[in-house]
Amino acid sequence: MAAFKGCSALVTGANRGLGLEMVKQLLEAQCSKIFAACRDTDGPNSEVLREMAKKNPDVITLVKLDVSDPSSIKESAKKVGSLLGKNGLNLIINNAAVLPQKTMLNATVEDMQNTFNTNVIGPLFVIREYLPYLKTAAKASGKPGMSCDKAAVINISTDAASMTIMPVLKDPFPLFPYSISKAGLNMLTIYTARDLKADEILCISIHPGWVRTDMGGDKAPIDARQSVEGVLSVISSLTEKQHGGFLDYTGKTMPW
Ligand code: NDP
Repeated sequence: MAAFKGCSALVTGANRGLGLEMVKQLLEAQCSKIFAACRDTDGPNSEVLREMAKKNPDVITLVKLDVSDPSSIKESAKKVGSLLGKNGLNLIINNAAVLPQKTMLNATVEDMQNTFNTNVIGPLFVIREYLPYLKTAAKASGKPGMSCDKAAVINISTDAASMTIMPVLKDPFPLFPYSISKAGLNMLTIYTARDLKADEILCISIHPGWVRTDMGGDKAPIDARQSVEGVLSVISSLTEKQHGGFLDYTGKTMPW
């Protein structure tokens, strides 16, 4: 995908599932710098990512980042900032998330708080701590309008966040804390789009489809490769027309 050639990108939750596949495909698309962020850079769940980074040391940098911990976000931003050049950071993909399988009747206070910390407050502070680098990228680009190779925040959302779809969605499993948190993430998209418009930083929410990952389970109809091909293809063609929108991995507009 030509749009990503020479770009810099941060992907959270990059060690498995869709995040890992995004790193793979951004590498294939010739991104020049990929900051692959995960909370346990040395653990067994990051082995594949570590191997990829070892093979592509000029492109992939592993970054320790626990999105549920604001101080970890701050530290990671400092590290990434020290490695970025004068062109800043073009793309943030807020991908990391958790899905405790709980209902309205059995979700605990901890389930609700942990889910919000990771799925809403995490993306908010990632955007805030990395904002100076996005602004640098937007200014350095010299291109008019908005695009992902200029400066963009992509929030990975879900159809389960949609107030229109949720009432008729056949749940594969209980989604209560997750749905509510992702609806909150969608509102974060609306705020980000409004507040960063003057800086020409693009922001959307995107539903990646129901995908066979640890989160999606093995009954899901599509695999990570198909989902991420769709997501990146949609992202690569975004303009200011889609700014503040909610799309799916095929480019279809999602109902809020
Ligand atoms: P997985 O459960 O397979 O992967 C989740 C990723 O998030 C892991 O890398 C995990 O890291 C990371 N993560 C969780 N908590 C934190 C944290 N506190 N700090 C940093 N990283 C964290 O999920 P998917 O790959 O399937 O999902 C990716 C995105 O797509 C999510 O936003 C999800 O909501 C969304 N989505 C997925 C769908 C699906 O069908 N799969 C459907 C709709 C949306 P670790 O290994 O450390 O746990």
